[in-house]
Amino acid sequence: MDLGIKGKRALVTASSKGLGLGCARALAEAGCDLVMNARGAETLEASAQAIRDTYGVEVTTVACDITTEEGQMRVLQQASNPDILVTNAGGPPPGMWSDWTRDDFIAALDANMLTPIALMKACLPAMMEQGWGRVVNITSVSVKAPVPVLGLSNSARAGLTGYVAGTSRQVAGKGVTINNLLPGIHGTDRADALDKGVMEKEGVSFDEARAQRQATIPAGRYGTPEEFGQACAFLCSTHAGFIVGQNVLLDGGATNLSM
Ligand code: NAP
Repeated sequence: MDLGIKGKRALVTASSKGLGLGCARALAEAGCDLVMNARGAETLEASAQAIRDTYGVEVTTVACDITTEEGQMRVLQQASNPDILVTNAGGPPPGMWSDWTRDDFIAALDANMLTPIALMKACLPAMMEQGWGRVVNITSVSVKAPVPVLGLSNSARAGLTGYVAGTSRQVAGKGVTINNLLPGIHGTDRADALDKGVMEKEGVSFDEARAQRQATIPAGRYGTPEEFGQACAFLCSTHAGFIVGQNVLLDGGATNLSM
């Protein structure tokens, strides 16, 4: 399917690996030029070069921490009013409700709520002015079904979801859509880290921990960054202009919501 976004300029943050990279690759396949970001310069540049080689699009890299004001400024300077914004950052660590301090909450809010809000606030005016724009925030299944060990993530993502619910409806009349993509378990480094957490907590092997988590998914497997990226590219396409303020679950059926 032609997504109708060839030649558009897309900013994808936290995109050297995993779900962010899946989104960057799918947008490049659709013909978008990219600004990609991550903290580690080497992996970021290697991922960017692979995209240039495969899809022939322009890719600029900005190695910085997107959760800092300075990092956001550097990325936004390079992206200079993108047509498409995909926000992403690393997820907070798992833990127990009684362990988290105020500083832990502030760090989680900065990464998974205030950073995407700052990026949207910076990019929305130009999108509205030109009468077209697409924003996709990578959040989490925890928005619909909070995960007990991920209290920091649950809290920060609930805040972002509330912000998007209002803002998406305030900008939709200008041809700009904002939606959230909610990953369930996908096969990335993040999933490996959470599998290791189960392994240590339950005293089982890594494979047993993974099998336990896979058994909770009706599809019987983890999702892939590639299929996640294609869903993101569709939400960024010209065909998705009537999809506004949605929280789209990609979880292999793990969350059983009747409505
Ligand atoms: P991942 O495989 O660990 O990749 C994270 C990517 O983000 C890397 O490119 C990393 O590069 C970059 N990054 C992390 N922190 C950053 C920062 N502060 N500034 C700039 N770049 C940063 O993670 P993932 O599985 O793709 O997860 C992406 C998001 O989806 C996370 O918020 C995660 O919590 C959420 N999620 C994932 C799953 C899952 O099963 N995978 C499920 C639910 C929610 P550097 O380390 O070099 O910066």
